[in-house]
Amino acid sequence: MAGAAASSSWLIAWPDRISSSRRRNFKSGAVAAAAAAATAASVAAAVAVEELPKSSSSEVPVENLVIIGSGPAGYTAAIYAARANLKPLVFEGYQAGGVPGGQLMTTTEVENFPGFPEGISGPDLMDRMRKQAERWGAELRTEDVEVVDVSIRPFTVRSSEHEVKCHTLIIATGAVAKRLGLPREHEFWSRGISACAICDGASPIFKAQELAVVGGGDTATEEALYLTKYARHVHLLVRRDQLRASKAMQDRAFNNPNITVHFNTRVLDVVPNDKGQMAGVLLEDSSSGIRKTLQVKGLFYGIGHQPNSHLLAGQVELDEAGYVVTTGSGGETSVEGVFAAGDLQDHEWRQAVTAAGSGCMAALAAERYLVRNNLLIEFHQPKQEETKKELTSEDVEMGFDITATKHKGQYALRKLYHESPRLIAVLYTSPTCGPCRTLKPIFNKVVDEFNKEVHLVEIDIEEDPEIAEAGGVMGTPCIQFFKNKEKLTEFAGVKMKKDYREFITSNK
Ligand SMILES: Cc1cc2nc3c(=O)[nH]c(=O)nc-3n(C[C@H](O)[C@H](O)[C@H](O)COP(=O)(O)OP(=O)(O)OC[C@H]3O[C@@H](n4cnc5c(N)ncnc54)[C@H](O)[C@@H]3O)c2cc1C
Repeated sequence: MAGAAASSSWLIAWPDRISSSRRRNFKSGAVAAAAAAATAASVAAAVAVEELPKSSSSEVPVENLVIIGSGPAGYTAAIYAARANLKPLVFEGYQAGGVPGGQLMTTTEVENFPGFPEGISGPDLMDRMRKQAERWGAELRTEDVEVVDVSIRPFTVRSSEHEVKCHTLIIATGAVAKRLGLPREHEFWSRGISACAICDGASPIFKAQELAVVGGGDTATEEALYLTKYARHVHLLVRRDQLRASKAMQDRAFNNPNITVHFNTRVLDVVPNDKGQMAGVLLEDSSSGIRKTLQVKGLFYGIGHQPNSHLLAGQVELDEAGYVVTTGSGGETSVEGVFAAGDLQDHEWRQAVTAAGSGCMAALAAERYLVRNNLLIEFHQPKQEETKKELTSEDVEMGFDITATKHKGQYALRKLYHESPRLIAVLYTSPTCGPCRTLKPIFNKVVDEFNKEVHLVEIDIEEDPEIAEAGGVMGTPCIQFFKNKEKLTEFAGVKMKKDYREFITSNK
C-alpha cells in the first residue's frame, strides 16, 4: 500500500456544506516565541552592523520590522514586508496624527486609485489594504506610538500599550492638511471645502462652477491652475499683497484668463444657502476692512500640510517644514535602518498611489538592509492556506473546529476529509489493544512537531466500526494518511518516530 495514491470512496460521498474564508497564517504568540528564540542570534548579528551605535543588550524579542502608520504607505509596506516573511508589526495609530487608515478615511470617493474604474470610497479602499496586510501575516495594533528611540540598536518603539524592539523601522505617519479654522469649516469639510484639488477637482459638485483657492505659494497657485480644467472660473485668495509662488508659476496664474487673484484677502467663513449647501465665502479686505461675499461652490485649501513627524524630532533629520529628509529611493533616512514613506517625507506629490509606492519601496529596502546585515529572521507562511469554516450548529454540537490539529471520531474525519487542505493522519485504535497505548503518545508528539500543518484524527474502531471497515483496516494500531481526498499510505503496527516524521515532512 505504501506510496499508493488510492482513492477512498468511503468518504467521497459526504457533502461539502460549509463556506470558506481565509484564516490568518500566524498567531502572535507563536511569533513572539519564535522571535524570542531568535533574539540572541539577532542581537549578536546586530553587532555586525558596522559604524553604528550598538545596543549593550536586549532581553526582549526583536522584531524584524516595525511600521508606524496605517495609511496607504503603511499598509503597502506591511503587505510587501509580510509577503517577504518579515512578519512586520504595524502600529496603526488611534488618535495621534489622524485616524487608523489615514487621510482617505475622511474622504468619500477616490476616483484615481488604479484598479477601481468605478471609484471606491476612501474607507473601503483602506479596509481592503488592511485586510490584505493582515492576510499575509502582518500583525496590526491599533495604538498610537508615543516614543521612538533610534539612537540605540535595536530600536525602541513605545506605544500607549506596548514597548517593542526592532531592527528596522518604517515611519509612515503621514501629514495633515493645515486648516484655517473657519467657524463652519467642520460642517463643510468634504462638502465644499477640500484640501486636495487633484483628488476632488473633477467631482460633479465642482464641475463648471466658480471655485476659490486660498493660499499664496506654489501649492495654492498650482491648485488654482489645475482647477481651471474643470471650473468655470477660479479665484485665488491671497492674504498678502503678493504671491510667494515661483515666478514661473505666478506668470502662469496671471496669464490664465480663468484665474482672478485677490490680494490682501482674508477668508472669514463659508456662506451657506437655504438648503445648507455652500453658496460662497465671506471675505475681508485686510487693508480696508471691507467685507464681501464671493459666490463660489468650492473652497480649496492650499496653505500647506503639517507632517506628523514630532515623534522623530532629534532622532532623524527633518527639513525646515518638519518633513523627514530621505536620501535614497527606498526612503532611507539619516539613520541606517530607519525608513520613511508616504506624505511624511513627500511635500510634493501627496497622493494615495505615490504614498503606496513609497511604502513598497521602503519595505523592499528594509528587507535588503536586514539581509545585508544578517539580521533577518524569516517567518514562513504555511504552504497551504487553511480554510476557516463558519461553524454549523452540528459542528458546535460535535465540538468540531477545522483549525484544530487533533480530533476524534468519524464526524471530524468526514469534515476534514472534504474540507481541509492539510495532510490528515487517521490513527485507528481499539480499547483493548496494548500497542495502541504505546503508539498514541509517541505519534501525538510527532504530530505536535507539525502543529497546524497536519490533522490527527483518532478513530476507535469499536465506536466507529463502519469507518474502519470502509478504510480496510485489518488490525490496530494502524495509521492511514490522506490528502486532497486521496489515501497516500498506511502504517500498520508501531513504527519508528522517524518513519512517521519523514513521511509527514515530505507530504505535508
Ligand atoms: C480629504 C482628502 C481626500 C483625498 N483624496 C485623495 C484621492 O482621491 N486620491 C489620492 O490619491 N489621494 C487623496 N488624498 C491624499 C491621500 O490621502 C494621501 O496622500 C495619503 O493618504 C498619504 O498616505 P500616507 O500613508 O503617507 O499617510 P496618511 O494617509 O496620512 O496616514 C498616516 C497614518 O499614520 C498614523 N499615525 C500618525 N501618527 C501616528 C502615531 N503617533 N502612532 C501611530 N500611528 C500614527 C495615522 O493614524 C494614519 O493611519 C486625499 C487627502 C485628503 C485629506
